[in-house]
Order: sequence, then structure tokens, then C-alpha cells
Amino acid sequence: MEWKGIAAASGYAMGPAFLLEEEKVAVQKQTLSPDQVGAEVERFDSKVTQAIQELEVIKEKARKKLGDEEAEIFSAHILVLNDPEYIGAVREKITNEYINAEAALQEVTDNFIAIFESMDNEYMRERAADIRDVSSRVLHRLAGIEEKSLDDVSEPVVMIAHDLTPSDTAQLNRDKVAGFATNIGGRTSHSAIMARSMEIPAVVGLKNIVEQVKTGDYVVVDGSQGVVHVNPDEVTVASYKEKQRHFAARQAELNKLKDAHSVTADGHRVELVSNIGNPLDAVGAKKNGAEGIGLYRTEFLYMGRNEFPSEEEQFEAYKSVAEMFDKESPVVIRSLDIGGDKELPYLDLPKEMNPFLGYRAIRLCLDRTDIFKVQLRAILRASIYGNVKLMYPMISSLAELREANKVLDEVKDELTSKNIPFNRNMEVGMMIEIPAAAIIADQLAKEVDFFSIGTNDLIQYTMAADRMNERVSYLYQPFNPAVLRLINMVIQAAHKAGKWAGMCGEMAGNLTAIPILLGMGLDEFSMSASSILPARALMHRLSQSEVKPLAERVLQMESAEEIVRYVEESVPAIAELM
Ligand code: PEP
Ligand code: MG
Repeated sequence: MEWKGIAAASGYAMGPAFLLEEEKVAVQKQTLSPDQVGAEVERFDSKVTQAIQELEVIKEKARKKLGDEEAEIFSAHILVLNDPEYIGAVREKITNEYINAEAALQEVTDNFIAIFESMDNEYMRERAADIRDVSSRVLHRLAGIEEKSLDDVSEPVVMIAHDLTPSDTAQLNRDKVAGFATNIGGRTSHSAIMARSMEIPAVVGLKNIVEQVKTGDYVVVDGSQGVVHVNPDEVTVASYKEKQRHFAARQAELNKLKDAHSVTADGHRVELVSNIGNPLDAVGAKKNGAEGIGLYRTEFLYMGRNEFPSEEEQFEAYKSVAEMFDKESPVVIRSLDIGGDKELPYLDLPKEMNPFLGYRAIRLCLDRTDIFKVQLRAILRASIYGNVKLMYPMISSLAELREANKVLDEVKDELTSKNIPFNRNMEVGMMIEIPAAAIIADQLAKEVDFFSIGTNDLIQYTMAADRMNERVSYLYQPFNPAVLRLINMVIQAAHKAGKWAGMCGEMAGNLTAIPILLGMGLDEFSMSASSILPARALMHRLSQSEVKPLAERVLQMESAEEIVRYVEESVPAIAELM
């Protein structure tokens, strides 16, 4: 039997299944008398304290086994248990509604989870798993039940679970757990992130794998394709053993490139950096050999909450990412890109006919300078902790760029007058994601330090094809000649003005696009962490003297299909690394 899910951590694993049954705590609501309420709040508080102490121990274990960065997941859990909004809401419920701690915790948790899960953003939706993990720990303490530990496992098995919480995952012993498969989860759930960093092949989001497998069944996990085989025949097992050998050899080769330069065979150096949504992602970026951060999507910090993040909170987040890298490595922080498909519940904006063409990103920030200035202050203050650069999203004209810089100057003056330190030479750049900006790139280039091409949006605006509408996806094509010509124009305009040009749209990590972009002279490639090592391996096998004429030739071609075919035939290494 074969089951399809989401490929969460690549590689192949096989072995007997081990089902991790969840010992669910059955919560019963009880009414308290007013004089019992005080003791109940105390009982709740003491279990929260106990859970925090346990998490400190797990955090230390994780630090020893996995390193500082993974341990930070548990700092996040500890923060949840110290969060006055969450814990305070439970206390209030006990006190105001005269109910037992278990029921109050369950109700408050369900509310929080519902809010997170209703968000459009996948990353925020998956944070619900963290709250579930933390609340389950406290519920078990309240009920006096010991949770089943994965340490019980004595031989290499394939773990099958409804969901693996981050604390389950951190306690996994790599020698005993060959791989895992879960009913729920997505690529950015914490357990998937950790599986990738522990290099445990994993498939998540299988919907009902728990119901299909018994402990002892022979299971194959194909974490590269997102497939699970239950009791497969011998031929299938043999073919997976072969794939496993092949994969291990390839990974070992790629890992050797972790600290290598991103340089072509004929010595042309570029920068390979990563896109992140929060400080935790920067950990994965470093592990995969990122030379810095090319796009920090700060809007995630604003989502999944009821009010704007304070200047202090933003400063801490930006500073923590800056400090993860050495002083030379760039950390490009993009100012708030909210609006379009990304809404903030506490920013009550009227519904628009065309949100992607509406009040979003820099347009909103220039209108709401109160919001914009808080963020600029936080970024400027963080700028002394590393090689921080600021980048504006969605600039469409010179006037907008100048206005944004004017606000930035006002904030700098304010910090200066208060003697608050910041890097006066911080580079300021802009994204090129609107065709109008690409067309006047020569004018814009004179007034910025760099460009970063946002192809995710640039393609949709150039082709008038919504990036989320699968019916027009045949038009949403990075290799479309019009898109490639615009990209080339932008890179040449930057270079003519003596500025550098990067790309942080998904296209930058596309192996077929890399030879073309290198040939056009792109200086910086920013991509998701797992694309970095294959991209670096490809670059090592290309030479500038070959890709330059390749790009020139491609710019004369007439269709995306022709371009893809030509590049893939000219560069056999692409197929080998895919
Ligand atoms: C882009 O548009 O290419 C980009 C990187 O920004 P986002 O995907 O956040 O819109
Ligand atoms: Mg964009």
C-alpha cells in the first residue's frame, strides 16, 4: 500500500513501524465554589512552573544533542508559558467562570489554536502545533499522567504518529528512529524543520496514516517524494535501498560545500543567502551554508497577534538575526509588506476589489508613518549588531522611494538627537517587483544601494496573471522572455550605476534559472535554506565564460519552453542535482 503526503525532510528510511499512541487527557469541566477558586489558580500556576522546569531540562538536552539554535524552540515554548495573554486568560477563566484549571486551559487553548489555524499564512497556522504541545504538557501535569517517551524505542523504527510535537522530535534518538510519518503538519511545522536539521527522513500531512499502520508493519518513508509504503514487496524495498545509498553519497558530497565559497569554475564570486520569516529560520539557513540573509520577511512578526509588535520586540528579533552572522555577512531586513493577501486583524482595512493592486506594503507604510517609523527605529537600532541592510518592498516610482527615504531620515535625526546609536552607513535598497520600477531601474539605481528582484510578484504583474490562480498558471512563468528581459534590464541598470543586484523571489533557487541569472551578472541569490547547497554545487560546475553567451542567446529566444529545453540541454549538471 502506498500513501501520499507532504515531503517534509528528504531522504529514505525503512524499518518496523512504531505507533506513538497519544494518551489524550479527557478533560471534564467542573464547577467550583467561589472559595475553591484561589487554590485552583495556585494549582494551575504550580503545574505551569513544573512544565517550564521540564522544558528547561529538555532545552538543555536539545542544546547538547542538536545545538544552540534548535534549543531555541523550547525557549519559544517557555515564552508561551510565560505569556500573560495566554496564561492570564486561563487564570481569568478559572476566577470569573468558577471552572477547573483543565477546562479553562482547554477552552483558552482551543481559542488560540482556532485563531492561528484560521490565518492565511501557512507558517502562522503551523504555530498552532506549538501551543498544542505546550498546553498538552500542562494538561498532563494537571492530570498527573506521565507522557509516553520516544526513548522507549530500542531498535531503528519508523515512527508513526498523529503529530510529533517539537519536544517529541527533539527527544528522538537518531540511532533508534530511522524516519517518521504523521497524519498532520506541513513543510514549515517545527517538527518538519527539526527533522530536516536532524536529517531524519519524514513525510507529514498524510491525513490518516495512523489508522493504516500497525506496530511491526514494515514501512518505507520516502521523504524526498512525500510517499509512505506499508508492507511493500521485495522489489520495492530493494529499489529504495538503492535510492538510500545514492542519497547518502550525494548528501555527503553536498555537505562538503557548506563552508565553501559560492564561486564559478572560472572564479566568478556571487553571494548565496537565504530567505527567512523569523529568527528560527535563520538557524536552518546557517546550517545549510547560507552566507547571510537576503530577505527577512518581517510581516510574520506582525501576524498572529492582537496588536502591533513594540519597537523593543522588533529590535530584539532583528538584532538576534544580525548577531547570528558575522559582521561581514549581509542581513537584509525588508520593511513591512502587509496588505494584498496578508491581513492583520487589528489593522481594520476596508475590503478591496484587487488587493494585490491596492493599499499594501510601502503604500500603507507611507500613509501610516506612525507604524512605519516604529519599525525603522527598530531596524536602525539593530544595525550596529551586524551587516544589516534595509529594503523597501513594492516601490513603483522615484517619488515613493524618495518619500520612504525622507521618513528614514526623520527617524535617523530623532535617534541622533536622543544619542541612540545606529549605523549611519547602513545600506538601503529596494525590491524590484513592479514592472514600472524595472522600466525606470536606471533612475532608481542612482538613489539606492542595491536592488533585490522579487520575481514572485514581478512575474504576476508583468504577465497580468495572479500568482495564486492555477487557471492562469501557464502564464505565470519565470522563463517567459518578457520576464527574463525585465530581469536583465534591472541587473544591467544596477551595474551601470555601480550598485549590486540580487534576487529574492523563488526563481533565485531554481536550478534551471541559475545559469541564466549568473550569465546576466546577478550578484546575490536569496532562496529557501534547502536550495542553497544544490545551488552552490551547480555554480561550482558553471563558468562565467559559458553562461554569459548562454544568457545572451536565451534573451533572443521566443518561448519559455524553448528556453528551458535549451538551458537544460546545455547544462547537464542541472538534471544531476535536481
Ligand atoms: C517577491 O515578490 O518575489 C518576494 C520575494 O516577496 P513576497 O513573496 O513576500 O511577496
Ligand atoms: Mg513580493
